[in-house]
Amino acid sequence: MLGCRGVSRVPPARASWRQVQRQCRPEAVQPFGGGSNAAQGVAVTHSATSFSRAWPEDEIGTQLLITDTDASPTEEACWDQCQQTSMALRLDGKQLAAKLEARLQQQIQTGLAAAGRSPGLAVLRVGDDPASAVYVRNKEKACARIGVESFGSHLPANASQQEVLTAIRALNADQRVDGILLQLPLPEGLDETPLLAEIDPDKDADGLHTLNLGRLLKGEQGPRSCTPAGVMVMLRDQGIDPAGKRAVVVGRSILVGQPMALMLQAANATVTVAHSRTQDLASITRQAEILVVAAGRPEMIGADHITPGCVVVDVGIHRRPEGGLCGDVRAEELEPVAAALSPVPGGVGPMTVTMLLVNTVVAWCRRHQVALDLSDLVV
Ligand code: NDP
Repeated sequence: MLGCRGVSRVPPARASWRQVQRQCRPEAVQPFGGGSNAAQGVAVTHSATSFSRAWPEDEIGTQLLITDTDASPTEEACWDQCQQTSMALRLDGKQLAAKLEARLQQQIQTGLAAAGRSPGLAVLRVGDDPASAVYVRNKEKACARIGVESFGSHLPANASQQEVLTAIRALNADQRVDGILLQLPLPEGLDETPLLAEIDPDKDADGLHTLNLGRLLKGEQGPRSCTPAGVMVMLRDQGIDPAGKRAVVVGRSILVGQPMALMLQAANATVTVAHSRTQDLASITRQAEILVVAAGRPEMIGADHITPGCVVVDVGIHRRPEGGLCGDVRAEELEPVAAALSPVPGGVGPMTVTMLLVNTVVAWCRRHQVALDLSDLVV
């Protein structure tokens, strides 16, 4: 049975509180929210996070993560209010990234004495691509915030393949450096494949080295590609367990789509990968309980592409001609029907930078046998 605004009505006794929580975005349900309302003695917060939109099982096949406790009276009230305000849970990557940065910072402090030095990240930039300059600056700022030392190297646009190779080898040998990132795109004339292959796989902060993609394929430990790893950590943070779920990844790039599919599969989802030659894309994406869109096509996915209750992660990022940013999905259409949705901006993007830091700090820990509690961030 469908209730108001298309939300099926499931009594709180059947729908777990976590389901209710996911319906109650803090900004949508202020009377029950934490923050300023906590002073009113309402013991409900919105930070714990497993959820499911309560669609009847025969509509979606299986429910996403029905977990733990039954609902309390307060929760029931919240549930009622949720019926009026059903919007997708916001997969807030910006907030999560800030939380993880604080953890990384704390844990660097803890391991500093044993390691004898801070973790180090080297970003190698070649040429003067303005967007790359901004990305690199953001990465350096993020390093500074958590106590990772930056070793920026900037070669001129006319640097030769050999010069870049030499710079990479120097960073491989530099004992202060735990992570190396070759900022892409490279100027014309440089071949990125042999350059990426030259990076010491254990210092591969981007997780894109062939060996590390092989390690991912085989389920072996190693640095993971930052964007898909960030998506996995976002899902995990919200208690969204892909195990047994139907996941669809739109896009099959080495940077995002392929490793994303492997990570979801490693987490026991049943994964379909769609791409530009996929016929009738909507019929594929509608099968998804978890949909990750990384097609690089502005706002190509709309409400007709998903089954209500789907978790949607929007990896795409585009500048609108009229200003502002958008993703690969039409967020306004999806918000009332999806169970959860990552915003653009503020979703996957901040998590990508954070996972770069995670890869660097984890490499530093392993190198110095520092026991840091980052296991939940290792995908
Ligand atoms: P690529 O262009 O390398 O890959 C795009 C993929 O999408 C390809 O596999 C392509 O298929 C597929 N595709 C293209 N059009 C369609 C379509 N109409 N239907 C189905 N599939 C389609 O892009 P990336 O993977 O590098 O990036 C994807 C998006 O994610 C971009 O917007 C990028 O800016 C963004 N991004 C965001 C990051 C972040 O941190 N937020 C990080 C990295 C990327 P085929 O293989 O057949 O060509």
